[in-house]
Amino acid sequence: LVAPIGQLVQGGVQLQQGLAAMRRIKEIEDLPAEPVAVAGVGGAEPVGVTFEDVVFRYGEDRPVVHDGVSFEVPPGGLTALVGPSGAGKSTVFALLERFYEHQAGLITIGGRDIRDWPLGELRAALGYVEQDAPVLAGTLRENLLFAAQNATEEELLRAVARTRLDDLVARLPEGLETAVGHRGVLLSGGERQRVAIARALLRKPRLLLLDEATSQLDAVNELRLREVIAEVAAETTVLVIAHRLSTVTNADRIVVMEGGGVRAVGTHVSLVGEDELYRELAATQFLVS
Ligand code: ADP
Ligand code: MG
Repeated sequence: LVAPIGQLVQGGVQLQQGLAAMRRIKEIEDLPAEPVAVAGVGGAEPVGVTFEDVVFRYGEDRPVVHDGVSFEVPPGGLTALVGPSGAGKSTVFALLERFYEHQAGLITIGGRDIRDWPLGELRAALGYVEQDAPVLAGTLRENLLFAAQNATEEELLRAVARTRLDDLVARLPEGLETAVGHRGVLLSGGERQRVAIARALLRKPRLLLLDEATSQLDAVNELRLREVIAEVAAETTVLVIAHRLSTVTNADRIVVMEGGGVRAVGTHVSLVGEDELYRELAATQFLVS
């Protein structure tokens, strides 16, 4: 499976990134089946997250990335992580996915120490949309069902509708059966991102981790993304690394990270009033990597 995928990744996307994503999905598939509470979007209970004085470095000879990070994400709703490049935002996601283990402090998901979750159950509970998520060559349907082969047609159509992809499907010559990616119809950055969100939603996550693409979106795509995030956050927990102002203005809470820690927590309105760094980031539309 993994080998041919390298050739299938749509142009412009780093091959390595695509392969890493595929390997992660493969890992999930390879895990023994365990009873998983099926819910989240369309049934499963959303889970919250806490970080308590989390300390983390990527290696003994590496600098500390998280130097006592604490914040809380209640179940349901939209929480945004913002901060300058290198602040450790993506590392929060890497720790939640348990690609790495923190050296001190406590991380909980659904009130349970992350180390006590069976890995398969943990990964099944999380939906992860990475930055500039790859589109595979193949049909749009195959792209959507890649990690959820057992989804019903109804679930598929619902995910399409919820991610505002119906217009795209209507426009494509063969609808969901149209080949996309570099050998088919090229999708815009906004469409690729929503395909990735739909793919994640089909796995019915109890917590959706979304590392927003940094590329500029046109006004229509930006509005659609905002609607999609709001709708998903009404049903499950969404934690987004935000790269655009229009995403954070709607957030229930915003966590501002800087220099290995959490600098401030608030809403857009409160932070504009209280936090200098937040004001600066907002002024530049958060368009930092
Ligand atoms: P952000 O997402 O806020 O830009 P990251 O969490 O990606 O920040 O990175 C925080 C720090 O950790 C940076 O100094 C980065 O170079 C380092 N880092 C990120 N990923 C890795 C990795 N896989 N191995 C080693 N260092 C890393
Ligand atoms: Mg990042």
